Amino acid sequence: MTNLKPVDVAIIGGGWTGLLMAKEITARSGLTVAVFERGIPRKQSDYEVTMDELDHNIRLRMMQNTAEETITHRHSLKDPAVPVRQHGSFHPGTGTGGAGEHWGGASFRFPVDQFKLRTHLTQRHGAAKLSADLSVQDWPVTYDQLEPLYWKSELLMGISGKAGNLNGKKIDGGNVFEGPRKNEYPTPPLKQSYSSSQFDAAVRRLGYHPYPTPAANLSETYKNFDGVTRAACQYCGHCQRYGCMVGAKAQPTNTLMPVLVGRKNFQLRTGSWVRRIVHKDGRATGIQFTDAKGEEFFQPAATVVLGSFTLNNTRLLALSKIGTQYDAVSGKGTLGRNLTHQVGVNTRVFFDKPLNAFMGAGELGSRISDFDGDNGLTGKEDGVLRVGMIALASTGEPPIGSFGLMPRGASKKNWGSEWKKTALKYKDHTAAIGTSGEHLAYRHNFMDLDPTYTDKFGDPLLRFTFNWTDQEHKQREFAKQVQHKIAREMGVKFDDELPPRARYNTINYQSTHIQGGVVFGASPENSVVNPSLQHWNMPNLFVVGASAFPQNAAQNPTLTALAITYLAADALIDKYLKHPEKLI
Ligand SMILES: Cc1cc2nc3c(=O)[nH]c(=O)nc-3n(C[C@H](O)[C@H](O)[C@H](O)COP(=O)(O)OP(=O)(O)OC[C@H]3O[C@@H](n4cnc5c(N)ncnc54)[C@H](O)[C@@H]3O)c2cc1C
Repeated sequence: MTNLKPVDVAIIGGGWTGLLMAKEITARSGLTVAVFERGIPRKQSDYEVTMDELDHNIRLRMMQNTAEETITHRHSLKDPAVPVRQHGSFHPGTGTGGAGEHWGGASFRFPVDQFKLRTHLTQRHGAAKLSADLSVQDWPVTYDQLEPLYWKSELLMGISGKAGNLNGKKIDGGNVFEGPRKNEYPTPPLKQSYSSSQFDAAVRRLGYHPYPTPAANLSETYKNFDGVTRAACQYCGHCQRYGCMVGAKAQPTNTLMPVLVGRKNFQLRTGSWVRRIVHKDGRATGIQFTDAKGEEFFQPAATVVLGSFTLNNTRLLALSKIGTQYDAVSGKGTLGRNLTHQVGVNTRVFFDKPLNAFMGAGELGSRISDFDGDNGLTGKEDGVLRVGMIALASTGEPPIGSFGLMPRGASKKNWGSEWKKTALKYKDHTAAIGTSGEHLAYRHNFMDLDPTYTDKFGDPLLRFTFNWTDQEHKQREFAKQVQHKIAREMGVKFDDELPPRARYNTINYQSTHIQGGVVFGASPENSVVNPSLQHWNMPNLFVVGASAFPQNAAQNPTLTALAITYLAADALIDKYLKHPEKLI
């Protein structure tokens, strides 16, 4: 193992969270910062020529290689866990920018009640009515505390949208259920498609409150506070699983890297796979990593920041023996607990008119929050605690992936000339009404190290013990019924079946919204990091990202992950560096 020259701060992970920490620390302190990223280097110009659906959307060329590292999954403590060797229910990123390069761009703030969820549910239902398995907890910060940091994150990326609550004043056309915003969105909403405008009109007729999805896909040219200018979206429909060809979708390579590359106190070391955080006497002393040639290095550092996404934030702490592993039987320990995903369900709808659905943007769409959280619930819904947002999005239907979508029973066979004729009839005539639902945390859903399977270095894989409960089944059924009501109002064909009450499956893509494991909280009894995202047991270690969420809201996680990364950066730079000890 080769010992390297010390740096002030070593950051693990070159995605949104790791690179944002690097941008803040290098700008606001004279410290030297090195970011260690296991994947390949990437830059904006790489995306100008590579819009190949087979390569990106089907073969998933930008994602982590599951032959090198993956997770194992089991449904319960009684089941054997097996490795997930093909990307399925989520798609972890790798390389400069991480998954932030090929994300969709939906950029919501979490609603106010999300930050006090345990208190809210207890007040609404009474403690006795909440399942003992429910391990939901209050966040250690409130919406009001995060508001300026949400705003900073929105300004950073130039989020397009329309406010629905400006300083407490409700505004029609925006999300009237959102928490009070101090400012209108940095850029206006994206244009709507024909199908999303039909959804918008139908939900309005039903008395709901539609608004355009806030998106990191720019509706107009935008210059942010760092002087970085990005072009407007061309509606080419190549967002999710692609890097943006014109830089209209905010990505770390077009938003953070242009600022970072010019800084002398910054370096990004790609091909550097971090295997351990090294520590002694309760303090991190640096990191151990293996480079692309297989050589091992020790990088001494005064401070370590872990920003390697939920999976490796949890796994690296476990591999490095930092903190106490959560035990689902006793409920003791904190590392790995409160693993959450996102509860989704769709109704495919079929139009008579062609939709030009090849056009779109990562998060172009119309949505309602009339059933988000417990909005619209009366308490008589057979145990449904929370639901989610309902939307019709036009993200760009790709030619291979969208071929063959047709109403159930429209073709007697799923092959041959009749099927082809029907597939052509419905080609470009389909869209989906989707629900992005809140996922509550449960005692039985958690992560730990797998005792059997290892990665390419021989280190234990991360194991998921994870399954849906009755709450998620009922939540989906409730959402489906609202979707059917909207489809009927739109006057389109749709399949009106309810979703099966199936176990969690790792095969079908659901979303890359994986949270928890390194939860932040007010007490070391139920959290791994403190309200400043500093490790309770190791003052010179900060852990950033959605791993800190105690449970998941219906909203996509990245904007909130960025807001709490700003929170950690402020704590590290303004408080910790002046007094490098425990912050509380
Ligand atoms: C197809 C898709 C669509 C999405 N759409 C949306 C959306 O519309 N809205 C939204 O809010 N979110 C969306 N997401 C999720 C979003 O991409 C993530 O929330 C966000 O990128 C997380 O940022 P991060 O920095 O925490 O992690 P990442 O982006 O995963 O970055 C972490 C980095 O750490 C590196 N790393 C991991 N382990 C190690 C190690 N041991 N050593 C060195 N480096 C390591 C990884 O290679 C990676 O580059 C989407 C994701 C996908 C895949």
